[in-house]
This record gives sequence, C-alpha cells and structure tokens, in this order.
Amino acid sequence: MANFSRYVWLDGQLVAWNDATIHITQIGPASVSSVFEGICGYWNADARKLYLFHLAAHLDRLAQSMRLVRMKQTWSSDVLKQGIFDLLRANECTQDVYIRPFAFVDAPAFSVVSDSAARIIINTLPNPSRLHSGKVSHACVSSWTRISDNVSPPRVKASSNYLNSRYAAEEAKRNGYDVALLLQANGKVAEAPGACLMLVRDGKVVTPPTTGSILESITRATLIELCRNVLHLEVVEREVDRTELYIASEAFLCGTGSEITPLASIDRFVLGDGTIGRVARQLETLYHDLVRGIDPRYPEWRTEV
Ligand code: PMP
Repeated sequence: MANFSRYVWLDGQLVAWNDATIHITQIGPASVSSVFEGICGYWNADARKLYLFHLAAHLDRLAQSMRLVRMKQTWSSDVLKQGIFDLLRANECTQDVYIRPFAFVDAPAFSVVSDSAARIIINTLPNPSRLHSGKVSHACVSSWTRISDNVSPPRVKASSNYLNSRYAAEEAKRNGYDVALLLQANGKVAEAPGACLMLVRDGKVVTPPTTGSILESITRATLIELCRNVLHLEVVEREVDRTELYIASEAFLCGTGSEITPLASIDRFVLGDGTIGRVARQLETLYHDLVRGIDPRYPEWRTEV
C-alpha cells in the first residue's frame, strides 16, 4: 500500500483517488468546519486478518463531534462502518492502517454558517505500529495553553483544535524536544497535542480528568480498564500539577496513533532510569496483543474486516 490508496470513500461511494476532489476555494471553509476521527487497523499476519480497534467507539465520537458543531448527519454510523469495510477491501489493506473519516460542510466563505448536510470523506493510510520499537520520547511543558471547553472544546475532535496543537508541537520540536505537554488555563496539566497523558506516582496510575481540557480519548479509557482489571493497579483521574510531571516514576502518552509512547524526560527531568517504565512496558505488551487479536480477551474492542 503506497502513501496514497486506490480509493477513498466520498459521500457514500468509492471514488478513485484522483477523482476525489473539492474546489480549491473550499479548502479554508471546509477545514475550519471539519471534525474527524482516526482509527487504527492492525494486521495479524499469522491469521491474515485485519482488526479495527474500537471502531464503534470512534464512530460514536465522530457523531458526537458532529452534533456539537451542529452538523447535519447524513450518514449513519452503520453506513460509515460499511463504507470503511468497502474501502479497506478495495484498497487491499494487508498491513497496519490508519483510517480517517473526515466530516465537513460546503460553505462559500469562512464566515458563512452553512446548514447544508455534512459531507464525509474516508481515506486510509499505511501506519506501521510502533509498539515494542523501544523508542522513548523527550517532552517539555509548552508555553502555549490548551484550549478549553468554552473556547474551542477539546472534547470535539475538530480540525481547528489542531492549530493549538500545532503551536505547541512546533515549539517543542524547535527547542529540541520530541513532544509537548500543554497545561490548562488553570495551570493544571491537560494533554499532549495529539495524545493523553498518564503518570505513575507511588505505584498508582494518575491521569487528568475528561473535564480537564482533553479529548475524551478512547485509548485512555482502554488503558484505565487494563490497569484496573488486568494489571490490578489503582487508577486516579484527577487534576495534575506541573511539578508532578517531574517527580513521577514514569509517564507515557496514549492515543490511537501514539499507542503507548513512554516519556524518558519532561523538561529534562529524567523519569525513572530514562527508559520505558514497568507499567508502560506491561501495558505495551497487553495492548500489542489485544489490538492484533493475539490475546483473545475483550473481543468487543476488535472488529474483523
Ligand atoms: N488528545 C488529542 C488532542 C488527540 O488528538 C488524540 C488522538 N485522537 C488523543 C488525545 C487520544 O485520543 P484517542 O485515544 O481516542 O485516539
């Protein structure tokens, strides 16, 4: 599978890559109005099967994002699910894949609130998993503040929210870090530009609450479940102070694309021994085996294509 695929799904139909176009003047209004999802498909080479992880939860969140930006929903989750299956089969996906449903509204200008029905495009991209790569990341606390619920709600997976993410991510890279962590307007820790954060303190897993200027992450919920009911660890969802980042025994990011990304340091405070921590390592193994269906538990999390 090349970086582009043979087909995209556009408004109910499979359309050849080169034919899936919108007019150039629509780029701005279409992107500003848009909400989207990112779904991972994991290829199990032994079983020769592709499993989509938490497909239903992602389609529910897409519907929720569309509702919050008051988009008219033309396509039901069932139609989108079938569209994703059709697209993956047409694109002959036999490797790890990222699937992006993207909903937008046609509008002539930025300022026009169009009440036309949402259009949806779904595309697939090759996306090899980085689980067990041994890679650790160095994080910094961003000088940018995370957007908040009454400004540009992080709960909505809106493309426009990623401008706040971009400021932080770009600043981090420019200053020699791999990733940024953003604080809320009240100074408490929120999340990374494209992932949520978990810390380990005194053997407990600590993560900012879903009311703390974060996306209601599906991976975060998954890891909370695994920590509590498989690893039997205590998980606390609470406000996190900046200085707690520096004294945590481990910290890691979690997200559909980020999977589990261990942080070796935050603002150059080295966490633990600067390698992947014990909890992150256990979660990584569990997550790796669950997403590919190697571990048969939680079958409701996987959809076989
Ligand atoms: N926060 C942000 C800002 C994100 O973009 C993502 C990635 N979707 C996450 C958190 C993680 O969410 P999820 O686990 O649902 O992918």
